[in-house]
Amino acid sequence: MKNYNYGCLEKEIDILKKLYPNTEWGTIGKSVCGKELFYIRLGQGKKAISFNGAHHGMEWITSAMLMRFVKDYLLCEKENKPLGGFLPQKLSQNASLYIIPMVNPDGVELATGGMVEKDMKQINPGGDFRRWQANANGVDLNHNYDALWQKSKSMEREYGIFGPGPTRYSGEAPFSEPETRALAEFTVKHDFEMIIAFHSQGKVIYHGFEGKEPPLSLKIAKAFECVSEYKIDRTQGIASFGGYKDWFVDKLQRPGFTVEVGEGRNPLPIENLPIIYRETLPILLGAMTVV
Ligand SMILES: [Zn+2]
Repeated sequence: MKNYNYGCLEKEIDILKKLYPNTEWGTIGKSVCGKELFYIRLGQGKKAISFNGAHHGMEWITSAMLMRFVKDYLLCEKENKPLGGFLPQKLSQNASLYIIPMVNPDGVELATGGMVEKDMKQINPGGDFRRWQANANGVDLNHNYDALWQKSKSMEREYGIFGPGPTRYSGEAPFSEPETRALAEFTVKHDFEMIIAFHSQGKVIYHGFEGKEPPLSLKIAKAFECVSEYKIDRTQGIASFGGYKDWFVDKLQRPGFTVEVGEGRNPLPIENLPIIYRETLPILLGAMTVV
């Protein structure tokens, strides 16, 4: 097995398009370096929900996990077989699930030793991208959403952040980046009832933002806790503002979650994928039943 990068995602989507021509595939926009921000739709139900992965470059295992789910789901749906105790054909009547497996393809390329179509010397003169979380502008996408963004910005100095770089730089302004703008526009357009942003690592579920989450958020988080080994937690410090889940909860007051998958030090090795998939499958499937 090898690291899961943008090329792997493109190839898998090409193959799946041929195998499942009736499935809706598309792109929500482009990255700084022009890579596609792909989405896949599972199900035709009235309630629209959304999952996304790899806001952060080193966390590409979340893209691999979501694509494994897409493959299993489509196969079981086609053959009318159960997946993790659920029948995808039934789930598909209840919900429409939009999956954006790789929000930050440039960051994933950089973190996995690939190249981007941009001179990165100014942003990262050392040239070591192994611990790169940001996009190709050196902006941490999960600090770039318009949800108390100024608080994230004002805390940068105490975290030793003075400009574009590998992590935690919030950008010049909220939504300064094409990736965050594209995901926000897509979210508003589809009016999602619920979202889950997958990150790594820690085996925890975050559901709150400044008390703006509806009571249903805690109920769903507790249900996720019951079906997985993951535990409800609260974010701290600079990680508490400017994220996609924060923006979603703040703007729509609907259930939004960040789920940190797996355990260890980022980047988690691809060998951890089977166990991560086993742990998260009940959450992925369960999410399609709760709205
Ligand atoms: Zn992350």
